[in-house]
Formats: sequence, structure tokens, C-alpha cells
Amino acid sequence: MGLIDIKNVRKVYRMGDEKVIALDSVSFSIEKGEFCCLLGTSGSGKSTLLNLMAGLEKPTKGEIKIKDKHVEKMSEKQLAVFRRNNVGFVFQSYNLLPMLTALENVSLPLIFKGISRNFRDKRATEMLKAVGLEKRLKHKPSQMSGGQQQRVSIARAFIGNPEIVFADEPTGNLDTKTTKEVMDLITTMARKNNQTLIIVTHDVEIAEYADKIIHVRDGNIEKIDIVKHDKGESGK
Ligand code: ADP
Ligand code: MG
Repeated sequence: MGLIDIKNVRKVYRMGDEKVIALDSVSFSIEKGEFCCLLGTSGSGKSTLLNLMAGLEKPTKGEIKIKDKHVEKMSEKQLAVFRRNNVGFVFQSYNLLPMLTALENVSLPLIFKGISRNFRDKRATEMLKAVGLEKRLKHKPSQMSGGQQQRVSIARAFIGNPEIVFADEPTGNLDTKTTKEVMDLITTMARKNNQTLIIVTHDVEIAEYADKIIHVRDGNIEKIDIVKHDKGESGK
């Protein structure tokens, strides 16, 4: 049994009379502390798979177990609690709230956990320092570069010390140099606390950071590669 177990998962979208088979029949496991990459071309079904694991969508068929709990059977309320306690997210388009400062954006997950203002501010400041943004606490998203915004969103994803971090094309809007900085940051943070990291990408170079590469093609898993890294390095 892994931390995440996916068994015979199928997802069909209905568009009027037409059926889109986003995932045909998919099975795999992800272990605790593993850095896993879902690699495939656009339209192959990667985001659908990530959304199913995060409980953002329901499968048409099959099982999605996380920590031995059936995600596909949870109610919206159970899912909200599950996500709050176990999961962090990083998105391609950062998804920061435009009216809030970097500090306020990073603090958000702690507000939902009912943590005091004082502790939130202290912890969010530490997180922003850890991502190299201690001089940008009061900046709004529009006052920061794409790379800085993504670092704020990484600080937000990790602030609650979630067991699992999901990232969908986290470097999709960034240049090559910033991509490397952001990938080094995410992987270092996840490895430090033995967190499980699941990244969706179409970029083979990003996939090379991972312990396990799941190749997704036309709604199926084509193959799974286990990558060996030298000890002590952040992944590359
Ligand atoms: P990827 O993330 O690998 O680019 P997606 O998982 O987003 O691929 O999409 C897989 C397939 O499912 C695509 O053909 C896409 O058009 C289709 N699809 C995704 N979401 C929806 C939806 N909400 N309604 C209908 N079709 C969808
Ligand atoms: Mg996608």
C-alpha cells in the first residue's frame, strides 16, 4: 500500500452527445516522501489525474485512496477538511489573491486552520524569508515578477507543512533561469520535511528532478520510470 493508490481510474467528460475519454484506465501508487512527476503532452490527461487525486473532481470509475481513505467517496465537506489538513497546491498561474499582500496570501491556509494572527504573521514571514522574499512582505502580486509570485505561492503551499504538495505546470509561465530556481526551491522544501511532491509537466527537463516519472499518453500510463539520484543533491 502506498501513500496514494490509484486503481483502474477512468474519467469521461460528456460534451452534449460526445464523450471525451480524459483517462481510460489508470493504476499506480505513490510512496510517502516520493517526488513524482506526471509527464505527457498537452491533452494527455495529466491535470485531470491531479484534480482527481486532490478530490477536485470525481472519477467516472475506479478508486483513489490517500492514506487508505477513499477520496472518491468523500463529501464536499469531508474533502475540504481533508485538503486543509493534508494538501498544498501550486498552480501555473500562481492563483494569488490580487488585493492581498505577499504576507497575507501566504498566511491564508493558517486562517482556515484557526491559528492566531500573531503566529500566522511570524510563520508567514519565516516562509517568505525561506523563499528569498523577506523584502517583499507588503508587496501585492501585481508588484512582483512571475518568479516572485510563484515563490509566494510556494510559501503558501508549504506553510501548513502538508503531507502532500500538488503542482500543476508550476513553471509553465517562467523563463529557463527562473524555472530552475523555482524547481530547486520546491524540491528542497519537500525533501527537507519528507513531503510527497506530485508535479504535472510536459517538460522533460522538469521530470528529471523526480524520483518517479509517470508517462501519461492519451489517457493511459505508457510507462513508469524510477530515477536514481546521487545522495545529498536536491534532485539534479
Ligand atoms: P493535460 O493536463 O495533460 O493537458 P487535461 O487533463 O487537461 O490534459 O485534459 C485531458 C482531456 O480531457 C483533453 O482532451 C481535454 O480536452 C479533456 N477535458 C479536460 N477537462 C475537461 C472538461 N471539464 N470538460 C470536457 N473535456 C475536458
Ligand atoms: Mg494540464
